[in-house]
Amino acid sequence: MFQKVLIANRGEIAVRIAQTLQEMGMSAAGVYSDADREALHVSCLDEAFPLDGNTSSETYLRGDKILEIARRCGAAAIHPGYGFLSENAAFAQMCRDAGIVFIGPTPEAIRAMGDKILAKQTAVGVGVPVVPGWTGSLDGDLENARKEARRIGYPVLIKAAAGGGGKGMRLVHEEGDLTAAVEAAQRESAGAFGDSRVFIEKYIQRPRHVEIQIFGDHHGHVVHLNERECSIQRRHQKIVEESPSPVVTAALRAEMGEAAVRLASVIGYTNAGTVEFILDESGSFYFLEVNTRLQVEHPVTELITRQDLVAAQVRVAAGEPLPFRQEDLRPSGHALECRIYAEDASRGFVPSTGTIELLRLPAGCNIRVDSGVTTGSNVSVYYDPMLAKLIVWGHNREDSLRRMVWALERFVVLGVTTNIEFLRNLMLHPEFWSGRLHTHFLEEHRVSANDAEDVPNEAWIAAALASRLLADGNGSAVRSAHSGQDGTPSPWRSAGAWRM
Ligand code: ADP
Repeated sequence: MFQKVLIANRGEIAVRIAQTLQEMGMSAAGVYSDADREALHVSCLDEAFPLDGNTSSETYLRGDKILEIARRCGAAAIHPGYGFLSENAAFAQMCRDAGIVFIGPTPEAIRAMGDKILAKQTAVGVGVPVVPGWTGSLDGDLENARKEARRIGYPVLIKAAAGGGGKGMRLVHEEGDLTAAVEAAQRESAGAFGDSRVFIEKYIQRPRHVEIQIFGDHHGHVVHLNERECSIQRRHQKIVEESPSPVVTAALRAEMGEAAVRLASVIGYTNAGTVEFILDESGSFYFLEVNTRLQVEHPVTELITRQDLVAAQVRVAAGEPLPFRQEDLRPSGHALECRIYAEDASRGFVPSTGTIELLRLPAGCNIRVDSGVTTGSNVSVYYDPMLAKLIVWGHNREDSLRRMVWALERFVVLGVTTNIEFLRNLMLHPEFWSGRLHTHFLEEHRVSANDAEDVPNEAWIAAALASRLLADGNGSAVRSAHSGQDGTPSPWRSAGAWRM
């Protein structure tokens, strides 16, 4: 086993990985940008090294700097977390060449799955259902593309071969819009990924996003750890995840799990990965892509399987066999995750930055919080505004939902505006409660961003005073007691259970 592992990431995932490494008796080294000098993850590490600069491209995306630090501090392996370098085949290759273990799949597997066209063709080759589409060349006069889109049937989606994070995707309702959409998608993809290849896919109306967690080792074992439903999205980004999905039956789970394992096996997949599918209204599933890394939403799977996926990643990367076989995995109950963002849901989800004057986390039976921040942390403009993940386990979906509402109401963040109230209202929405989910849920259903409509003035004043007293004295806290139309964080909306 490794003695020291370098975590090439920040925020909650760096904190979470450090915990497992330390529990396993390893030393957790890490890196930080200038903006993160005082960040929570730095204080959780055994050793921390600066990456000069602030932007991601100057810091957490600098594979060369990170590898040099790993070499210098004697780390035998690098855990990339998610995002940043986690799906970068060139970085995985650089690690291999430097004799440092990349905790993830091989560069070959990352490459094979990172290209959506290649991944789709591989899926077709092993009989995994894919969304009807066309992966031929979209260069030239687009005559072929027009013919193929007509055959597939509008609406169609133009997607980037190198895509990620919803970039390079365009929805086309009619033939007249095809050329402009293809060009826009090509431009966006070239800018974001340096690769302008795009392909056409049938647009599935009101689908569910259901993904299968897979795991492979270097001894020929590949297993799946059930599904996660991640249909609640905003701009193709997940906000709430759960397992099991409210609609996946045991038979469908077995079928999807088997398809995911088949795909992973054919490419000799090792370590953690996720095979993403969409499920249409008739219950048919179609392969979307493979994410060749640990997912943000992995704790949902950890709670229902009672496995530590990061520990399994480390063991597999060190050459050990998978710590679980398919027959050992007996998932039980239901788990739900909400992503807590520093953003203002009442003002178009604009990111909220500033100092967290006070953080009070909910705790209790079957409640887990993976947080990247603490009281005093600074939320900067440089990185993703996700502050923490709140995850709960229940005997069934209703049990989880009740626990999640309870925990959200006790999650206190003062100083920056968060989506906590929005998440609570979402949990209580009758359509969400009944499990009728699809990826356009948030466009179709109005979910209120706050519950502050009938708050008496005395309560505003008390909340403002409380917030003021808790401020660090530099006056940066709260100037307005009201609901932050001017962008100021509202003490009322961030005070959680204290409102009572
Ligand atoms: P990215 O890698 O950019 O995140 P994905 O292929 O994973 O792209 O798709 C992201 C989201 O876009 C999916 O979760 C789903 O909501 C939506 N999506 C993708 N393909 C389709 C499709 N063919 N029909 C309908 N929605 C789709």
